[in-house]
Amino acid sequence: PRVPLTHFLEQSAAEFPDRPALYFMGRRITYRELLAMSYQFANALIKRGVKKGDRVAVMLPNTPQAVICYYGTLMAGGTVVMTNPLYTERELIHQLNDSGAETIITLDLLYSRVAAVKASTPLKRLIVTSVGDFLPFFKKILYPLVQKKQGDHPQITYGGDVEPFLSVLKESATNPVRPEVDPEKDIALLQYTGGTTGLAKGVMLTHRNLVANTLQCQAVMYKFVRGRERILAALPLFHVYGMTTVMNKGISIAAEIILVPKFNAKQILKLIDKTKPTLFPGAPTMYIGLINHPDLPKYDLSSITACVSGSAPLPVEVQRRFEELTGGRLVEGYGLTEASPVTHSNPIWGKRVNGSIGLPWPDTDCRIVDPATGEELPQGEIGELAVKGPQVMLGYWNRPEDTAAVLRDGWLLTGDMGYMDAAGYFYIVDRKKDMIIAGGYNIYPREVEEVLFEHPAVQEAAVIGVPDPYRGETVKAFIVLKEGAQVSEEELENHCRKRLAAYKIPRLYEFRKELPKTMVGKVLRRQLQEEEKKRSA
Ligand code: ATP
Repeated sequence: PRVPLTHFLEQSAAEFPDRPALYFMGRRITYRELLAMSYQFANALIKRGVKKGDRVAVMLPNTPQAVICYYGTLMAGGTVVMTNPLYTERELIHQLNDSGAETIITLDLLYSRVAAVKASTPLKRLIVTSVGDFLPFFKKILYPLVQKKQGDHPQITYGGDVEPFLSVLKESATNPVRPEVDPEKDIALLQYTGGTTGLAKGVMLTHRNLVANTLQCQAVMYKFVRGRERILAALPLFHVYGMTTVMNKGISIAAEIILVPKFNAKQILKLIDKTKPTLFPGAPTMYIGLINHPDLPKYDLSSITACVSGSAPLPVEVQRRFEELTGGRLVEGYGLTEASPVTHSNPIWGKRVNGSIGLPWPDTDCRIVDPATGEELPQGEIGELAVKGPQVMLGYWNRPEDTAAVLRDGWLLTGDMGYMDAAGYFYIVDRKKDMIIAGGYNIYPREVEEVLFEHPAVQEAAVIGVPDPYRGETVKAFIVLKEGAQVSEEELENHCRKRLAAYKIPRLYEFRKELPKTMVGKVLRRQLQEEEKKRSA
């Protein structure tokens, strides 16, 4: 595919101009309107001096503005840098300096954080929007109350290099702007890695990478109907998983995208009941939150036909219960930022294998290699998963050594350990870096977490290695219990003893109300490890 990513929006707007493209807190925006506003935003950026390849930071929750700014930047030939609205000042400074973004679009509620870092970054231009920009009633009556409650809403003095989004948009021309880009070489997106395992690196994804992954997504979801689907945007669009599988894929099939600014199980249940989405890509913790919610019986989830769950292992029990509730299909997939992100999933309507990430997506080649030598291993053996395909990144921005360490002859080393079965289905055992070595044995936290998860009282579990004077490392489990449930450490230990070899059984337990998670709901084992380190210091 040699078209820029913006092609999808133009195509859907030409075919279904009056269909809703976005739904946001009761307001609908059609494809015609979305395209016109994206052109306006592109014209506005060009007028302000943004040139081809310039990085533009978009720091917004799931709102119509996020979609407009993303497509508008691409139309202007710019490179989008999606910025997590929850970033602290330190993380913001790192990302803005590393990417060199001179323009940022952010929310009034986040303004003080951005203004505070401005002098320490290359930022020259701030465009500020409000959640209520497309919601007149909300803006006038409710929003002042929200702002008051948040407490930190500053008086923004507009003028000079600080401009309000709506006037920027309104004052700009609506004439079409088509980027003159080379889809194979020009970077559409500089996407900072999740940061689950360390310092965030900028992943360079070209127009072709993103177009390819969007089309691969279509191929796998072949039963969709153009102009008919409604897709729930519960995943954040500033993370590549939601960006591709919800926003880009949704726009490419002219779906209505139901924007959820913040994940909250009860709100989502209500929203599903009200807006009747047909597709719901998500992460396991989201589905877990929904199926365990006490109000679940009040809501109808039967509109949902297909869901792909990624970013972390999907427990079988969760899949079964969710399918029973919705009557739709929920399958596990796999990906990483460096691959735009998806490389595998179970077939939605074909043979699914529990505990497997499924089959490689169309045009994607896979190998299991020896992490020490890089040699391909025989089928069935555990090694590092390597992938090759049109969705694989160009490399890391300004980090040739890091790029060389993971990209070899077009093969991307994923950092995940796994294997392939005789039928060609792939399995992730765990991250290379999270492996625990206790008394000379290799332990994969995921296997232990799955066993803990099978206990009826356990809602969530995370396992890490903690230093141990005799064994080098020992296994520690963090447990979140289901509401009202109780269980002792001894009972959990006995439960594990029946199912795991002795060296894998957690020796230490800690019960928590919740676990630290990333924005896509992935448990942050690294944070648990850091907390442990601090405590023992
Ligand atoms: P960082 O790049 O800082 O380490 P991150 O790895 O979480 O953060 P992402 O690109 O968001 O960044 O996540 C990709 C990783 O998520 C994969 O490498 C893999 O470890 C994990 N993952 C994704 N899907 C699955 C799955 N179905 N089962 C197990 N792990 C998964």
